[in-house]
Amino acid sequence: MTITIPHWINGAPYEGSPTHRIPVENPATGQVEAELLAASDQDLDHAVAVARAAQKKWAKVSLAKRTAIMFKMRELVLANQDELARSIVAEHGKDYNDAIGEIQRGRETLDFACGINAAMKGEYSYDISSGVDIHTVRQAVGVVAGVCPFNFPVMVPMWMHPIAIATGNAFILKPASPTPTASMIIARLYKEAGLPDGVFNVVAGDREVVSSILDHPGIDAVSFVGSTPVARIVQERGTTSGKRVQALGGANNHAIVMPDSDLEFAAQHIAAAAFGAAGERCMALPVVVAVGGCGEKLAELVKQSGEKIKVGNGLDEGVQMGPVISKKAQQRIVGLIDDAEQRGARVVLDGRGLEVDGHEDGFWVGPTILDDVPLDAPAYHQEIFGPVLTIVHADTYADAIKIVNDSPFGNGSAIFTNDGGVARRFTLDVEAGMVGVNVPIPTPVAYYSFGGWKDSLLGDLHIHGPEGVLFNTRLKAITSRWPSERGTYSATMSFMREE
Ligand code: NAD
Repeated sequence: MTITIPHWINGAPYEGSPTHRIPVENPATGQVEAELLAASDQDLDHAVAVARAAQKKWAKVSLAKRTAIMFKMRELVLANQDELARSIVAEHGKDYNDAIGEIQRGRETLDFACGINAAMKGEYSYDISSGVDIHTVRQAVGVVAGVCPFNFPVMVPMWMHPIAIATGNAFILKPASPTPTASMIIARLYKEAGLPDGVFNVVAGDREVVSSILDHPGIDAVSFVGSTPVARIVQERGTTSGKRVQALGGANNHAIVMPDSDLEFAAQHIAAAAFGAAGERCMALPVVVAVGGCGEKLAELVKQSGEKIKVGNGLDEGVQMGPVISKKAQQRIVGLIDDAEQRGARVVLDGRGLEVDGHEDGFWVGPTILDDVPLDAPAYHQEIFGPVLTIVHADTYADAIKIVNDSPFGNGSAIFTNDGGVARRFTLDVEAGMVGVNVPIPTPVAYYSFGGWKDSLLGDLHIHGPEGVLFNTRLKAITSRWPSERGTYSATMSFMREE
């Protein structure tokens, strides 16, 4: 019997009146394992009403109590990470160890939220005029919705909800339809942690429910992570209806490899960054710009690492890379490789046609390396979101940084070099929000914020960390004067007169 995945509203699973059911596949088997209910507008209205009522009370709960719940939640996520990881593998396909790694990176934001009291401190100035003081507080925005992509079912929502909740908001999570189960586990764990009902809710569905979220007058802010075309819709529609919006988009991260770098070290790290999670990471490394003729040797070394990667069902022993998310994604990725080859790219490692024993219906693409890819090939300039590394060549650093900065995306970028001066110049020249020096996936830890530049982030605030606190709170400046200090109005204060 197919499992039904409901929503989570007011501290319990909620079926409501779904508009339709969305099949949820296991990408390693190609089988439909569950059906996700798509929320109707009435279901969303119910979730918003519940969240608004809960938020009014939650915002008044002391910081000490709020952070105690976050500490408990952190413990529960650790204790239940096997269940969470298995749900990620079953719906996303990434290997088990990678799923555990994802949970760990997500949990860092819970760690940060445990210390939210320090991050919410205001400022105070006294006697700005005679007997007049000013101070600032940051207060919750109200009801925050989070719209998430399929590729990090635990981590990306966890970039959002711990900070939204710890700062006093109620949260409505719209998980990606291919990977919804982890959100239901998280909802159950928040309840166990003692979070009042209605503060964390899950409302599932596809683009229709997102449109309703963007238009809903009861939602004050929307955090979005996903592809750039959708980020643009979310940013425009959400802000038009008066919401605070941050919309993190897609990516096509480039690394420059200088000829002085340790090529073996670079190749190992580039292989992991290009092929890990089947390339389905916004911080994956799909493009290398090889400078000064080092590309051919680099391609050979990356190939040696890439061909050792064991591809299979993410729950099987020793598997290091799983399938891609869907048949459609598999066909799109293979189509981009075919097209690049026809345009003259050299296929150094070919993952097309990969079969995995016992999993004939899975959505497989093996690690692939395309060398000498023309810059007008879609495999170079589009986001592939698959296990494909494209290599392009440049004569000088100046040519290479131009290629990098001509990309409309600016999520992450890295340089491999042994020259500190070149590295320093790169960190200042590159137009990207997250930059690595001999670090191919420079994802900031949670007490820094995460976000790209250009088409990789619409809106001005990065996610989680200090900028996450700014996004989830509003500043209030309070100017006060107490005439009773001079004893003017209070008979009982007469002993303070200074005659
Ligand atoms: P997606 O943009 O297709 O979907 C993201 C969310 O938007 C989902 O919840 C989906 O239901 C909803 N959605 C899809 N189409 C919509 C529409 N027309 N109107 C309203 N809502 C819509 O992204 P995806 O395929 O789930 O995830 C992969 C993408 O996410 C990649 O582009 C990847 O780079 C990006 N991503 C970015 C980051 C980042 O931090 N910048 C992190 C992870 C993933």
